[in-house]
Amino acid sequence: NRQLVLAERPKGEPDDNTLRMETVSVPEPGEGEMLLRTVYLSLDPYMRGRMSDAPSYAAPVEIGGVMTAGTVSRVVKSNVKRFEEGDWVLSQGGWQDYSISTGEGAMNLGKSPDHPSWALGILGMPGFTAWAGLTQIGAPKEGETIVVAAATGPVGATVGQIGKILGCRVVGIAGGPDKCRHAVDDLGFDACIDHKAGDFADQLKSACTDGIDVYFENVGGKVLDAVIPLLNVNARVPVCGLVSGYNATSLPGGPDRMNWLMGQILRKQLTVRGFIIFNTFGHLYPEFSKAMGGWLKDGRIKYREEMIDGLENAPRAFIGLLRGENFGKRVIRIGPD
Ligand code: NDP
Repeated sequence: NRQLVLAERPKGEPDDNTLRMETVSVPEPGEGEMLLRTVYLSLDPYMRGRMSDAPSYAAPVEIGGVMTAGTVSRVVKSNVKRFEEGDWVLSQGGWQDYSISTGEGAMNLGKSPDHPSWALGILGMPGFTAWAGLTQIGAPKEGETIVVAAATGPVGATVGQIGKILGCRVVGIAGGPDKCRHAVDDLGFDACIDHKAGDFADQLKSACTDGIDVYFENVGGKVLDAVIPLLNVNARVPVCGLVSGYNATSLPGGPDRMNWLMGQILRKQLTVRGFIIFNTFGHLYPEFSKAMGGWLKDGRIKYREEMIDGLENAPRAFIGLLRGENFGKRVIRIGPD
């Protein structure tokens, strides 16, 4: 059983020394346990937080501990009711070939799900994040303008497409012309602005002639700087993630703008609300599942996955995810299905 364990806490960007591959024997499931063989491993930005021991909503991975991750696996051997050999299972198996589960928090996907890996993306945590953050906090009304960055990732792409279904104008922000083209041509966004362009803030302003009613916050940094002046009175800001700063070791320099920001919130009567998907909105998962299942079936939502083979390639693939090298939901394929 190959495992990727946390070797040291990264300072800044993770590197080749952050994780270490170890090989241990395949565990034997005890009473009330099952053995799972990982087929798909999800890579997600939140994992950078687990590498750090700074205070957060979840405990960090211990040094020497297996990195945590959502996984889609198959049951090899089961002593758990409701799970049989061969079943597909969504669980928190971690960065390893095999894992043991008691079935708690695990979801049985059945013997032959159509797209098993989608449980890590559009039908799982990222898709749910997009749906819940947008509908519960963003609460967009028809004709309003929604802005979302990381627009071709699993969260952003879903936010934008749901926004279109709800009758809104959707402006994406993404890194580079290929991603921007995909957002407009394939996902149906009204516009998509490249945040690497020199005149990014001006382009965003031109694309949001009626201002911004919902800013779905995925990235922070200079994107947030450009968005705030464009927010309308009563705009809503679901605070989902701040990926531009996940590798930061200090706060950015420059004048203290805390009072200016609070002034914007006050004068524009903004709703700014953070959420941690399963903590905040876990009870809504069945409602999301039903809605998303219907949209996918009707072809109203598209989903782009980027599959990378081999557990050994997961560390580099993760470093690349935080740099924006991914184009779509990054998944590591480990086992044969
Ligand atoms: P993505 O697959 O979209 O990957 C992250 C993307 O962020 C990169 O591809 C890159 O896209 C973009 N990015 C990275 N650095 C910058 C930067 N400096 N400026 C602008 N964009 C940048 O990730 P997900 O869809 O999985 O997640 C999106 C966000 O949602 C993250 O912040 C994540 O932490 C958050 N999240 C929060 C949850 C919650 O419960 N609150 C749950 C799930 C996700 P590009 O090249 O287009 O710039």
